[in-house]
Amino acid sequence: MAEEDATEMFSEKMVELGSRRSTIREIFEFGNKRAAQVGRENIFDFSLGNPNVPAPETVSDAIVRLVREEDAAALHGYTSAQGDAVARSRIAESINQAHGTHFTGDNLYMTVGAAASLCVCLKALAEEGDEFIAFAPYFPEYKIFVEGTGAAFRVVPADTDSFQINFEAFEERITPETKAVIVNSPNNPSGVVYSEETLLKLTALLKEKSGEYGHPIYLISDEPYREIAFDGVKVPYLTRYYDNTFVCYSYSKSLSMPGERIGYIVVPDEMEGAREAYAAVCGAGRVLGYVCAPALFQRVAAECAGQTSDIAVYQRNRDLLYHALIGMGYSCVKPEGAFYLFPRSLEPDAYAFCEKAKSLDLLLVPGDDFDCPGHVRIAYCVKTEMIERSLAAFEKLAQMYR
Ligand code: PLP
Repeated sequence: MAEEDATEMFSEKMVELGSRRSTIREIFEFGNKRAAQVGRENIFDFSLGNPNVPAPETVSDAIVRLVREEDAAALHGYTSAQGDAVARSRIAESINQAHGTHFTGDNLYMTVGAAASLCVCLKALAEEGDEFIAFAPYFPEYKIFVEGTGAAFRVVPADTDSFQINFEAFEERITPETKAVIVNSPNNPSGVVYSEETLLKLTALLKEKSGEYGHPIYLISDEPYREIAFDGVKVPYLTRYYDNTFVCYSYSKSLSMPGERIGYIVVPDEMEGAREAYAAVCGAGRVLGYVCAPALFQRVAAECAGQTSDIAVYQRNRDLLYHALIGMGYSCVKPEGAFYLFPRSLEPDAYAFCEKAKSLDLLLVPGDDFDCPGHVRIAYCVKTEMIERSLAAFEKLAQMYR
């Protein structure tokens, strides 16, 4: 069959999406190839956000106990679509304890991680002509997830001095068509935690605009890094500031189990149209074919809710790398969470800068991928010892620009 005929048989958009590898994956694959040539110890791969800190022992203990002690048919069977009632209730209690909220299991919908939480919320909300707003720099999949619903994706350019919200640009982009706004704090890729001041301003503006347009503008709070915050910094819980908030949570990073695919959505009772919103979330889960989240890991998440893997490692890595880079003359907003640094590239073209870094086997991701040119992302969820060994390469890279 001619190539042309074959492509006509499939969704053009899906063929295009599936054929194009993400820059991050390209860089990661390059790293693997180079490692085979020169040895893994000579490659400084800062490309992927895969947690290097192992899951806490309580996770493996819970898995072993559940598998040994529970009835296998029930343990591995389907749960209700929104998730096991006991698991949801235990997770709700743990959220309440941490954040002073009043959720029950009925406010929760279990998902296969934050990506699914986002896709379900977007699908639950999107109608023809709707717009969704995100703030640069942002997780690149947002654009794909939003456009996958048929809605339009609008971007607010970054405030590169602080990576808090650029409110002037935001106000210009809110329209009567704005259905929801996506926020992510602690942020991938900047590592910045939105301050309470930022969130008060954001939610006041959303309340004002919702009133002006006569319909709610929802907040979608993407929170896979919620617990990864340093120096005692508190990450404000958004439902306490804004009733119309969907919380999209995941255990991928907090419990270091991204491959297990487990997370949840919170739909607060206070949300406008809360009953319909929860029904729409369930409906979206059906349409997307999720059936239910993995039964075993719903139970594991419930048993380990409120715990984290050893976050002190990330803080140590941040301190080491941040201070070293500043000392070498790089400029970077000091991140307070997640496990990314997002310094300015030493030339305006971040791709060219990353190519130079690559020649030193230093693998960084251009900020253009996050809609924020002139910056690079450094994922420091790697061994501290690799960071120590990489510093000479960062210094050589800086020297190329002196
Ligand atoms: N949102 C952000 C900001 C992320 O960085 C990631 C993963 O890196 C996700 C969502 C997806 O997370 P999950 O593995 O829980 O689907």
